[in-house]
Amino acid sequence: ATPTAIMVGTGLGAKNGILIKGGEALERAARIDAIVIDKTGTLTKGKPVVTEFEVEYDLGDPYVVLEKLASLEKLSEHPLAQAIVSYAEEKEVNTDLPVVEFEAIVGSGVKGTIDGKTYNVGTRRLIEQQGIVITLGQLERVSLLESQGKTAMYLADKDRVIAIVAVADEVKESSKEAIQQLHDKGIEVFMLTGDNQRTAEFIGEQVGLDSRHVFAEVLPEDKANYVQTLRDREKFVAMVGDGINDAPALAVADVGIAMGTGTDIAMETADVTLMTGDLLHLSKMTTLSKLTMSKIK
Ligand code: ADP
Ligand code: MG
Repeated sequence: ATPTAIMVGTGLGAKNGILIKGGEALERAARIDAIVIDKTGTLTKGKPVVTEFEVEYDLGDPYVVLEKLASLEKLSEHPLAQAIVSYAEEKEVNTDLPVVEFEAIVGSGVKGTIDGKTYNVGTRRLIEQQGIVITLGQLERVSLLESQGKTAMYLADKDRVIAIVAVADEVKESSKEAIQQLHDKGIEVFMLTGDNQRTAEFIGEQVGLDSRHVFAEVLPEDKANYVQTLRDREKFVAMVGDGINDAPALAVADVGIAMGTGTDIAMETADVTLMTGDLLHLSKMTTLSKLTMSKIK
């Protein structure tokens, strides 16, 4: 495209809330035939709310357990953590217990010590890696919650799971239509998430994706590998994401697209930023880039 066409194209994009970093990015956007979209905060609102908090065994006051959970999560920046902290604040429990040896395990959960006792919160894998056995009853409870599209997390002390917390994150109003528009253009759409398979499929169904197009339980370091795998299949791939955990995949993609509502790291890595996080802008972006490129001749 001519420099003028590119200036007009990127200018038009910017006016519509689509920030494109230069002419090369715009040219690549015109060639996309596969789009990989992160779930949490991208397809969904990323404003999860706690729907269940269940203490296992007879541990006395559930709020004493909630205090510990919330104080740990207060040190995490994850949207799931924010949901738990807000819930605890609503219940007016203390969320400021002193935590030492805090550790955030990206894509898995958090860990920390309160009052000399170490706790882990997060996925089944994280808990089992600590050598803690999750009971069949707990696994069944979690799988039921997940089939309702919720993300369920385990809180464990050094011996056992002491609570289960479930969080629901609504799909953005426009996500389904946005995917429909991309499908209509012949673009293949995939969902990629660190969340579990059942939750992922439930959300996938809501936005019109079949389970073959849903990649779940993907660790952050593997998100980039999925994108690379599609590229190896001769696809011209865009990756859309909002989190720190998406940054490597954004970098590997032919076109990395960040949410303006997401983390700075994602935006710095990406070629394009959708300012409002509205996925309808994806289709607009491809139209815009194609129009600009057609001005070559
Ligand atoms: P996504 O790809 O959907 O944005 P992540 O890769 O960030 O998800 O996280 C994957 C999973 O790890 C979450 O679904 C959750 O079970 C667990 N997890 C991540 N961060 C936390 C946290 N701060 N507290 C508890 N669990 C967490
Ligand atoms: Mg995300």
